[in-house]
Amino acid sequence: MAFIVMKFGGSSVGDAVRMKRVANRVLERQREGNRCVVVVSAMGDTTDDLIDLSKQLVDGTPPAREMDMLLSTGEQVSIALLAMTIRGIGGQAVSYTGWQAGMYTEAVHGKARITDIQPKRVHDALDQGNIVIVAGFQGMTEDGEITTLGRGGSDTTAVALAAALKADLCEIYTDVDGIYSTDPRVVKVARKLKEISYDEMLELANLGAAVLHPRAVEYAKHYQVPLVVRSSFTHNEGTTVKEEAVMEQGMVVSGIAYDKNVGRISILGVPEKPGQLAKVFTALAKEQINVDIIVQGGVMNGAADTSFTVALGDVEKAQQVLDSIKEEVGFRELASESNLVKVSIVGAGMVSNSGVAARMFEAISALGISINMVSTSEIKVSCVIDKSRLNEVVQALHTAYGLDTSEQAFVGGPSERR
Ligand code: ADP
Ligand code: ASP
Ligand code: MG
Repeated sequence: MAFIVMKFGGSSVGDAVRMKRVANRVLERQREGNRCVVVVSAMGDTTDDLIDLSKQLVDGTPPAREMDMLLSTGEQVSIALLAMTIRGIGGQAVSYTGWQAGMYTEAVHGKARITDIQPKRVHDALDQGNIVIVAGFQGMTEDGEITTLGRGGSDTTAVALAAALKADLCEIYTDVDGIYSTDPRVVKVARKLKEISYDEMLELANLGAAVLHPRAVEYAKHYQVPLVVRSSFTHNEGTTVKEEAVMEQGMVVSGIAYDKNVGRISILGVPEKPGQLAKVFTALAKEQINVDIIVQGGVMNGAADTSFTVALGDVEKAQQVLDSIKEEVGFRELASESNLVKVSIVGAGMVSNSGVAARMFEAISALGISINMVSTSEIKVSCVIDKSRLNEVVQALHTAYGLDTSEQAFVGGPSERR
């Protein structure tokens, strides 16, 4: 008998037929003799739809507390429906919201971190023979306020619960049958990985590979939770994420990720004197704006330009912050762009191989595309390019690093994503 936390994403519970499929799958797992906790996301595009609705009613940014109150309802619908579906087909199940399951978070709305898990009710309900269904993506502060964990955060609920409950395994069921060398919806000849290390997966997730939420991978690594990503539509073997993964021989790059959530802000004509950059980035940090790539231009006539990237949703706020320190810093002008995308190659093999970045730049320039920004670390290289050329670039890089499979390997559910 194993103790398993199973997580089903939005597309896996997108309608009544899919919900029933999930209910059967969970019951099947329990009847194999396993103790099962299930984490579910909101159905289909519910979260996006709720965000759209709030935009129709509010000019500007809606209050963060009320946004969390709103968005947490999506998962609450799923848990109730799944619990009643399981009961309807003869199983025993009970649903809990995040707070009922003891998920405590810091007091930050929209992207709270889990601080503590007190899963007594979950244990008790399991002891009584239930399948326990927990709402993903949500938690509660010490003061009893509802929070959410950031988009895609149900993965993190699942892995954190698996760690707190000391489960044997966390299974992430989604609409593709594993982790691929790149998004299989963009590159049809992407190859499915048998296994991948926590470190490489963390890098891919941080760089935009939506298949796992970065914090879920962080948790899995920290608590050494065995993690499997697999399809809710097929019984194919998935991909295991673990401490040390065996890579195919000769591969320097194991994956390619892209991130469309990139806005660039340029501060033009910053007078050259010590402490200017510190002023700018301290002001942004105080407002919890995360800055990613920073490029500092050369000094001309005693002034320089600085560009940096932030999440698209932070562009407006960042501009307001910078406007408020315009006189203090003395810059001439601000500019912003939102038609960009960041494409990254990731691979542990890069450390010991030269020319990896050069091959990336060559492949992109062969398409006649200019690279706006570059950033590197030991196991990744990222380039910011024009969004309209994304698919071509990902495909060209996939071929350039020898990742293409000879046949189409992708098996998954239909895409209903926007
Ligand atoms: P869920 O609703 O189950 O949480 P997500 O949309 O968050 O599903 O994640 C699954 C999607 O991630 C897939 O449909 C796929 O398009 C995308 N994806 C991006 N990169 C990868 C990758 N390297 N391997 C597999 N899927 C990926
Ligand atoms: N429903 C949330 C979202 O769409 C959380 C999740 O799906 O993981 O981001
Ligand atoms: Mg997801």
